[in-house]
Amino acid sequence: MIVMKFGGSSIESADAVQRVTGIIAGRAQRPLLVVVSAMGKTTDRLIEIGRTAANGDIDGALGKLNSLREFHAVETASVVAPQAEAALEKHFEDHFHELAELLRGLSILGELSARSLDVLSSYGERLSSVVITEALRAQGLAAEHIDSREVIVTDDRFGEASPLVDETNARLARLVRPLIDTGRIPVMGGFIASTMNGITSTLGRGGSDFTASLVGAGLTAEEIEIWTDVDGVLTADPSLISPARRIRIMSFAEASELAYFGARVLHPSTMLPAVRNNIPIRVLNSRNPEVEGTLIVAEHAEGQSIIKSIAYQEGITVVEVRSTRMLMAHGFLAKIFEVFDRYETSVDMVTTSEVSVSLTIDDTTHLPDMVQELQEFAEVTPVSDQGIVCVVGDNIGYTPGIAARIFQALEQINIRMISQGASRLNVSLVVDEKDLRRTVEALHATFFSQVNEKVFA
Ligand code: ASP
Repeated sequence: MIVMKFGGSSIESADAVQRVTGIIAGRAQRPLLVVVSAMGKTTDRLIEIGRTAANGDIDGALGKLNSLREFHAVETASVVAPQAEAALEKHFEDHFHELAELLRGLSILGELSARSLDVLSSYGERLSSVVITEALRAQGLAAEHIDSREVIVTDDRFGEASPLVDETNARLARLVRPLIDTGRIPVMGGFIASTMNGITSTLGRGGSDFTASLVGAGLTAEEIEIWTDVDGVLTADPSLISPARRIRIMSFAEASELAYFGARVLHPSTMLPAVRNNIPIRVLNSRNPEVEGTLIVAEHAEGQSIIKSIAYQEGITVVEVRSTRMLMAHGFLAKIFEVFDRYETSVDMVTTSEVSVSLTIDDTTHLPDMVQELQEFAEVTPVSDQGIVCVVGDNIGYTPGIAARIFQALEQINIRMISQGASRLNVSLVVDEKDLRRTVEALHATFFSQVNEKVFA
């Protein structure tokens, strides 16, 4: 059995949906399960509509909701069979009616809790999964809609809930497996779930990938296909580097490192269920389905290729903290991190010397307060407009000379922080944001001018 997951841009219009149903039909001689995101930018739009309502502008919110409904009606009209039109129209009617009621409630309350936001944003996948089911049926495929909220069970950390794997697996076995065993294609919305008490929750933004790997692991799929709008995982962001190369094969560890680093191809949690069950993941392009994509596996032995990809993050602030008291005072680091912890600000990169610590954050909401508290025992200098560049590859930690090549490539660039993670498969550098492009270009030219054709396309 294979799990095929399609992201929002792969189903953003009638044409896109037709392409996707064609891709699924082409694979339908094998047992399949389909997971879909919300259509296009529906989740962003729902969140925006919710905020508008909670700010008291109910007319504005209902106006925006209407155009979202219009979008769904227009882009789905031609993809379902004539005999299914009335039922789909009724589905839209009911769901948009509920949404309008919800918005009225939000505007009266004047607030949008994480729990309400989950209910609101769940509608994107609740709509799209029914649309895709009908679109597949219109192609003569035996698609069956499954409400993911009845199958994927989570804790109640609304906004970014964690799955309860045993319960989810039990429900997959009971509600989904029999469909597959009788030759049907279950279609599930990604991202959405519910708590043990049946309250709607979500797995966090971009969580449909995670749904796909949870379901794939629970049903021991042979492969999990993540269909996006790029040819696979690339050696660098193609908007910076042209041409970036496609990585043909890489390890789970490398892919996780890139996902955590915001390479935007896979949701960071996606790898966990796949790793645990050793299920390969393949990243594919729904606009270019002939391309074989990127295969992500536990281990591969495709010859020497030390560096796989160069990722970057903008909008980073470095916080430099120097001890004002003494050298080697114990508890200095603990005191610093306690402040960041209390303000729920996650720290990404850390470098230290005996008397100073530099760390990076991307959320500066509480920076002024944190600086004030840190100043009670240290000198603090925040430096904004920084970027992190991260060089990723399984063998970095075991290959002499990598650091030398990195620094040679960057001899003209001022590097503020350097760190090699404990996993030993990345080297991260902080540079001025204005030097980000030059940094990525220089590193890409150094490591990808000549490549192993078995690993890179
Ligand atoms: N629709 C959700 C989002 O936009 C989940 C996903 O697409 O993966 O975040």
